[in-house]
Amino acid sequence: MKKFLITTAIPYVNAKPHIGHALEFVQTDVIARSQRLRHREVVFLTGSDENALKNVQAAEKSGVEVESFCKHNAETFSQMMQVLQVQYDVFQRSSSPQHHQASQLLWEKCKASGDIYQKEYEGLYCVGCETFYTVDELNEQGECVEHPGKPLEKVKENNYFFRLSKYATRIADLIEKKEIQIVPEKREKEIVNFLKGDVQDISISRSVERARGWGVPVPHDVSQIMYVWFDALNVYQSGVGFGNNELQYTSSWPADVHVIGKGILRFHAVYWPAILLSAHLELPKKICVHGYFTVNGQKMSKTIGNVVDPFNVVEKFGTDSVRYYLLREMSTSEDGDFSIERLREVRNTILANDLGNLASRCASLSRTEVFTVIAPTQISTTVASYIDQFKLKEAMDEIWERVQTLNTKITQEKPWTLSSGKAKYMEEVIQEFVQIAFDLQPFLPETGEKILSYFLQNKKEDFAPLFPKIHQ
Ligand SMILES: [Zn+2]
Repeated sequence: MKKFLITTAIPYVNAKPHIGHALEFVQTDVIARSQRLRHREVVFLTGSDENALKNVQAAEKSGVEVESFCKHNAETFSQMMQVLQVQYDVFQRSSSPQHHQASQLLWEKCKASGDIYQKEYEGLYCVGCETFYTVDELNEQGECVEHPGKPLEKVKENNYFFRLSKYATRIADLIEKKEIQIVPEKREKEIVNFLKGDVQDISISRSVERARGWGVPVPHDVSQIMYVWFDALNVYQSGVGFGNNELQYTSSWPADVHVIGKGILRFHAVYWPAILLSAHLELPKKICVHGYFTVNGQKMSKTIGNVVDPFNVVEKFGTDSVRYYLLREMSTSEDGDFSIERLREVRNTILANDLGNLASRCASLSRTEVFTVIAPTQISTTVASYIDQFKLKEAMDEIWERVQTLNTKITQEKPWTLSSGKAKYMEEVIQEFVQIAFDLQPFLPETGEKILSYFLQNKKEDFAPLFPKIHQ
C-alpha cells in the first residue's frame, strides 16, 4: 500500500524559527499522528529552503558564510520540532546534492515537454516572497502585501520561462472536480478565480550574479540559477527519492496532504501542479491552508520586539500547553492571536481544571477498586472525520465536550457515596476516559500517553497532576 505522505511548507532559514512556524508543524503533526493511529504507514516530510536570496542576504549581514548559516538555522528548526514533539520522518535540506540533482531532473522533464523557453524580462521582484509581482497585485503604496515597507527590486534580465498559461484551464478543472482538494473552500474559490483570469508564464531562473552564485544551476547553462520556488517545491519529491531512489519514490508519491500558510497558496495550487503536469508526474491530492496569527493583536516583528521564541514558551509552559493553544485557541484555517497571558490562563483553567482535575478524580476514585478496561484501538469516527477535513479545532472541541460531560457526570452522581457497585461505575467512567485519552493522542501526545499508561495498567500509585498551575 502506498504510504501516506504529508508535508509542511519548507521554511526559509534566514532566521531562527518563531512561534508562527510552530503552528504549521503542530497542525501537520496532528494529521500524521492520526494516520499512524489508523495503522497507515506515514511519511512526514519537512525541511529547509536554503537556496533563497534572502538566506544569502541574511548570511552576509551576520558575516557568516551562507552554507554554515543555513545549516545552523536548519538545525534550530529541527530542534524546535523536537521540543514540540513533532514527529517528522524526513528533513530535506534544499542545499543537498541529491536535491540539486532531483531538481535538474525535474527541469529536464519540463523542458522535454516544450514548456521552458528563454525571454527578455523586466519586472518588480519582492525578495521577501521571492517572486515577481505586477503593479495591480501591489498595495496602494506600490509595495508587496506580505511585506509592506520593503521596496520591490526592479529586475531586467534574460531568463528562462515556464509555460504556466498552458496549464491554467486544466488545473482549474482539476480543482473544481476535487482531484486536487483545497481546504478551506474559500481558498479554493480564490485560486479558481485566479486561474480563470489572465494567467501569465513565469520566470523560473535568474542570473548567477543576481543569485550570488547560490542555488541550483540550470542544466547546460552556466549563466543561470533556478528560480528558488522551482526547486523549493521539488523538496517534496526529492525528500522521498525522486531521481534517486525509484522504489522509495513510487511508494510515497504523490503527496496526500500539503499543509501551507495562506500566503503561498498560489505556488502550491497553481505553479506546483503545472510543473508536475508538464513533467508527467502525479499531483498532490490535498492542500490544507492555515491563516497567520498576531501576537497581542499586532503583527510579529523584530521592530515591535514582539517575536515569540517557541523554545522559551515550551520551556515555561510545557509542550502540550503550547500545542493545545495552537490547536484550539485558534481556528485551524483562519487568522488568530497569540498571547502569553492567554496561554497562562488556558493552562491554569481549561487544562488544569477540566482535564487535569478529571484525571486526578478518576485516579483517586478508581484506586481502591478492581475492574478491567479495554484498550481502545481506534480514534473516534467524529474526531477522525474532523481531522480529515482540516478542522482540528472542531475535533478538539468535540473531545473537550466529552471531558466536560464526564466531569459533570461525576459531580452530579457522586460515586464516592455509593455503598455498592462502585467498581462497576468506575469501570464505565474509566472506559470512556481512556477513549478520550486515545483521541487526544494526536493533539496532546504526552498527556494522552500519561492517561493511557496509568489507567490501562490499572496503576494504584498517586497520579501526578497533569497540568500544575503556573502563576509567574
Ligand atoms: Zn513579498
